[in-house]
Amino acid sequence: MKEFYQLDVNKVYDYVQQELNFFDENPDIECNEIGDGNLNLVFRVKDRKSGKSVIVKQSLPYVRCVGEDWPLNIDRSKIESKLLEMEYKLTDGSVPEVYKFDEVMYTTIMEDLSDYVIMRTGLLSYNQYPKFVDQITDFIVKTLLLTSDIAMDHKDKKAYVKEFINPQLCEITEDLVYSEPFFDAKRNNIADYMKTFMEENVWNDKSLLMEVTKLKFDFMNNAQALLHGDLHTGSIFINQQNIKVIDPEFAFYGPIAYDTGALIANLVMNYLSTNVRCKDEKLKKKHMRYLLDTIRDVMDVFRDKCMKIWPDIVRDNMACRTPDFAKWYIDDIFVNTAGVTGCEMIRRTVGLAHVQDIDGIEDERDRENIRKLNVLLAKEYIMNRHKMLTGKDFIDCLVGFT
Ligand code: ADP
Ligand code: MG
Ligand code: MG
Ligand code: MG
Repeated sequence: MKEFYQLDVNKVYDYVQQELNFFDENPDIECNEIGDGNLNLVFRVKDRKSGKSVIVKQSLPYVRCVGEDWPLNIDRSKIESKLLEMEYKLTDGSVPEVYKFDEVMYTTIMEDLSDYVIMRTGLLSYNQYPKFVDQITDFIVKTLLLTSDIAMDHKDKKAYVKEFINPQLCEITEDLVYSEPFFDAKRNNIADYMKTFMEENVWNDKSLLMEVTKLKFDFMNNAQALLHGDLHTGSIFINQQNIKVIDPEFAFYGPIAYDTGALIANLVMNYLSTNVRCKDEKLKKKHMRYLLDTIRDVMDVFRDKCMKIWPDIVRDNMACRTPDFAKWYIDDIFVNTAGVTGCEMIRRTVGLAHVQDIDGIEDERDRENIRKLNVLLAKEYIMNRHKMLTGKDFIDCLVGFT
């Protein structure tokens, strides 16, 4: 009987061969731990001779960046591999192909995406991806709208809700995104100068806290679609041809706006970051224009694709067939996307897990200014979310602020 053990670079090749017999005879093997995430171990195993390679991702029974003091249900890896397999079919391969999931070792052996870059990294080098809007809106429509009650038989959908119940990972989001950044919590990663600023602008703002709590309860109670659950630019592999979305261990049935909001927030933060980091004025202008267009078009193309596909996919025979209902449904996603955008921006500034876009700003004064600006802009997105009904509304809010 096989038993669980923690993989390392010396064990992972033998493990892959045992499970898949993937490599040719007499290979010239190179193994690296390439994980940069907070939670799991990720290895690349490559045969230099044939060029063949695989990725092995192993979940540990605790949070990797904290250690055994923060235990975490290891079943998340099962959810992740199940979702990857489902989404691979739903999206014609916009996620890595899973070769094998191992229930004893909690490992997923999957396609190596070394010819892609993490989108956050690409954007920080001012790269542009002209096909991204079309690709990500396809991904969102196919993985979200098609797993909702709009397109699914209601009983089948409820079976999925049950299958993808993910309480521990949801609790992480509830705490780290919707709760802790909004008070002086122990786990916050907050610069000293941000403490009084947060007190004055966020922690004592009762009407803001009320709105954030409404958004938190939407996250907890709105089992709308099968979310990725962590759809920021660090979970998207990209190149000029394609995207591949990775790392869906936070998947569960939640509000569509949680995925779209995470994405928009991270594009917004890249925009703010570019404004102070980029020293080449022409490049700066071009990249910021590209980001604005991308934010606007992601929202507008998402709406257009939903409206277009709606009559063909709708299952219920009530008012939900009508364009008016479709508009109401999508308006609600827009409004909550703006709300989630704000929450994600605040948590990435003062919460436990930050982003390179902000923390990587080298000049200390610029970094401080952007942190403060980011929080104030986030408040606008949250408090004015009911007015955010077009892509233009999302970028006007941003431009008006910078
Ligand atoms: P975590 O859950 O710990 O955040 P991720 O799934 O995000 O783990 O993977 C961490 C890193 O490992 C990614 O940012 C990426 O650099 C690398 N990685 C993950 N999956 C692949 C893959 N299929 N191909 C190539 N690199 C990958
Ligand atoms: Mg990750
Ligand atoms: Mg992650
Ligand atoms: Mg992860």
